[in-house]
Amino acid sequence: MTTTTEVLSIGHLIGRTMTGVDAFEEVRDPGRLDDVVARVAVGTAADVNKAVELAHNAFQSWKKVPPAQRAHLLLEAADILAGSADDLSPLLVREHGGVLWEAQTDFALGTGVLQHTASLIDDFFTPKQYDDAESFISIERVPRGVVAAVVPWNMPVVLTMMKLAPALATGNTIVLKPSPFAPAALTLALQRIARQLPEGVVNVVHGDADVGQALTSHPLVRKVGFTGGTATARRVMASAAGTIKNLTLELGGNDPAVVLDDVDIDGALDRMLKGVFTRTGQICFAVKRIYVPRNLYGAFADAFCERVDQYAVGHGLDENAGFGPLNNKTQFDSVTALIEETKNSAATTVQLGRKLDSARNGYYVLPHVVRDAEHSAPISNCEQFGPIIPLIAYDDEEQVVQWANDSEYGLASSVWTTDIDRGLTMARKIEAGSTFINTHAFESLDLRMPFGGVKQSGIGREFGTAGMSEYVEDHAIRVLK
Ligand code: NAD
Repeated sequence: MTTTTEVLSIGHLIGRTMTGVDAFEEVRDPGRLDDVVARVAVGTAADVNKAVELAHNAFQSWKKVPPAQRAHLLLEAADILAGSADDLSPLLVREHGGVLWEAQTDFALGTGVLQHTASLIDDFFTPKQYDDAESFISIERVPRGVVAAVVPWNMPVVLTMMKLAPALATGNTIVLKPSPFAPAALTLALQRIARQLPEGVVNVVHGDADVGQALTSHPLVRKVGFTGGTATARRVMASAAGTIKNLTLELGGNDPAVVLDDVDIDGALDRMLKGVFTRTGQICFAVKRIYVPRNLYGAFADAFCERVDQYAVGHGLDENAGFGPLNNKTQFDSVTALIEETKNSAATTVQLGRKLDSARNGYYVLPHVVRDAEHSAPISNCEQFGPIIPLIAYDDEEQVVQWANDSEYGLASSVWTTDIDRGLTMARKIEAGSTFINTHAFESLDLRMPFGGVKQSGIGREFGTAGMSEYVEDHAIRVLK
């Protein structure tokens, strides 16, 4: 297992240079709480103002850079990010608690987002024009200005690139506020990217809610790209309301997996489990509740528990770990309280798997399966964001559609069947931003599919041209002949 005792100093990135760290917060390894990973600057409204003003000045020239040149620079940024995965993934593991392949996936997905976005820039900027006897009309896409991006800790690299790539591709500049629970690897990667770009195009200010508020309410910020919890998003919307900012919000989920009665249980479990406990269940679109036809319930639950029992939980740099600790104390307290509450309910909560020697002095929680869970139980209705999953029996398809949609969330969802037509029919009845058939994990994502949520899971979409459209305005020009 790799260890290091180096404590990094991570300042704000205002322009291409990192500022000194006067006031700072320690970032500790959630899997070894004695290990201080970094000292990270804590910003003020004055730091936010400095970064936004610099980004606003940079915008005046960045918006004029020809789209093809911006595409070229994004491809260079993709190379830098891909080249940063080797040295920065272990650091990311030590601050966010994931296992190494999950951190590497974060860098790989982020790189893919930059490359895919770059490939779309040329076509995206071709204006739509009409020329007839009466008029010449040109509808042109123009950038909005300074973008405030606010991201969480669970997959910080790709979630940042999902904002940075479309923002920069379309001629905006950006000020990012990372999560205080995973700021270091991301800031170092962004510093490398910022060095290749004009001064002020990419900026980072660290801090928590107060810095986030200063950023999302700043009058020179024209657009907010936010990923995080639904409760925080309400505050972000309120703070952006004062200056009528455009918002894209990617929020929480309570994703249902609907198993149909013709399922191949073993085949389905091979894929489904990748979407349940990966990142210790701390993924917005993780499988959060599983509906199983009553006549298959016993066989499915037995096979499910048998596999879950094989999980080994340990430090993210322990190569034997299937998953790592939870990210922070609030997360640990809320997941362990939920487990206790569920244990005291009518359902049967089983603790499975084992802890490795490396699972000491951290926020480690073994996987838990809730057998005979009720659809109406709290565990079936919340975003648990941890390694506990309810298995719920249903009687008919009408009931399971109603239960799948009985949520204020609507991020992703999945249907599991050997009959693809049946799966497609069911998918169309589910209220969600995405519905996957026979998959529900990182491998389900395809950059050609817009990603986002319905209801209180968010506003707007990320990835591809749908994502780029969130960062531009249509400027409509007409000549009356
Ligand atoms: P969070 O909402 O607590 O924090 C997210 C970010 O917002 C952090 O950077 C935080 O410092 C900042 N913030 C907090 N208060 C703020 C305020 N008042 N104004 C502006 N910024 C503020 O979320 P978290 O615990 O970091 O992440 C977990 C949540 O993120 C889960 O709900 C998860 O579902 C969601 N998430 C969603 C997606 C998606 O794409 N839909 C992806 C990943 C995570």
